[in-house]
Amino acid sequence: MKTISVLGSTGSIGTQALEVAVKHNIKVKALAAHSNVQLLAKQAKELGAEYVCIFNEEKVNALKELLDGRNVTILSGAEGLNETARLDGVDIMLNSVVGMVGLVPTLEAIEHGTDIALANKETLVAGGELVMKAAADKGVKIYPVDSEHSAIFQCLQGAKRSQVRRILLTASGGPFFSKTYEELENVTVEDALRHPNWSMGNKITIDSATLMNKGLEFIEAMRLFDLRSDQIEIVVHRESVIHSAVEYNDYSVIAQMGVPDMKIPIQYALLYPERLPCPTRPLSLTDYGKLTFAKPDLETFRCLAACIKAVNIGGTAPAVVNGANETAVYSFLAKEIGFNDIGRLVEGALENVEIRPVNSLDDVLSADREAREYVRKRLNSLSSQNK
Ligand code: NDP
Ligand code: MG
Repeated sequence: MKTISVLGSTGSIGTQALEVAVKHNIKVKALAAHSNVQLLAKQAKELGAEYVCIFNEEKVNALKELLDGRNVTILSGAEGLNETARLDGVDIMLNSVVGMVGLVPTLEAIEHGTDIALANKETLVAGGELVMKAAADKGVKIYPVDSEHSAIFQCLQGAKRSQVRRILLTASGGPFFSKTYEELENVTVEDALRHPNWSMGNKITIDSATLMNKGLEFIEAMRLFDLRSDQIEIVVHRESVIHSAVEYNDYSVIAQMGVPDMKIPIQYALLYPERLPCPTRPLSLTDYGKLTFAKPDLETFRCLAACIKAVNIGGTAPAVVNGANETAVYSFLAKEIGFNDIGRLVEGALENVEIRPVNSLDDVLSADREAREYVRKRLNSLSSQNK
């Protein structure tokens, strides 16, 4: 029986992972969330977790009350999250927190020698080179949870790395497929939150609407599978049935398919290499009837173009686009800026924030901070112009 910890247990990925864990008798030793103490306490009680971590320290007392009388160790804050990531007796740490805050816990788990199921793609975008090197040095395995990367990982089973020619990274295209840049100028938060195929947390749903998500995944794929940028082709595939594919040297293409349900890649990461029935439904290709494919529109979806540009620049550039995007997305969700402003801010950060080589974690964290400061300054000047 495997033992896991789940960072981000109250989110979209976290709750689905717990469903998988219950189905397959996976022991859940630790849980962590940002602020949602009600759900965190409920999960801890139901699953018999030994450790719970709440990042928001103002919520510690509420969590204590909810867990009254239970033999559960309560951790909190950034240090508590790091401690949760490096607990003994955990086979796999699932990192499903949202955003750059996931980077240090990932490095902590690696340092501790704990294998990782990684949903938190921002970790690999901002600090991918550091993370992959640390994992290789420690012999720690990183199992991708992101559906495209799980698909690629599955299509690579039994293959030699030297046989791989390139990757076809599929993209649903999001809610604004086929729209023009001008048409996107006035879309609302509610429009952007309406994803056609996937139900996910707010941040990634907006990233899917701007196609920033596909840009992040492009970089994530390069880091996870040690690919050059010219080895990845993004293919818009509206139905989200083919979750990505690997093209081999003989032009044979192996794709992974399934219904669009994150429980399949989550379960593959947690049970690898086992395959057991997943708590979802099987795929019926005849129900779909046809599958469609198109090229992405890099003129309209500028966040995607900015990510590809950033990874080709290298150094801290991916951390800069990621940090700028995080700040811009929360500002869009708060209705402070328009939809296309997200892309403009990401492009602006890439042009204006100094790009340096990545030699240490500090280089990544500074780039992230500078990108966020750049965006906040632009937001302040926008709001003073509007007054
Ligand atoms: P959600 O917003 O639904 O959940 C985020 C989770 O992280 C919540 O449990 C939240 O706690 C927790 N969290 C946020 N900040 C902190 C923090 N500082 N310390 C501890 N916990 C924290 O996000 P998703 O589940 O949608 O996404 C999670 C990650 O997985 C993202 O990186 C996303 O890109 C990636 N991903 C998601 C997919 C999906 O289908 N949802 C698909 C592929 C990748 P609280 O509830 O208390 O706020
Ligand atoms: Mg994905």
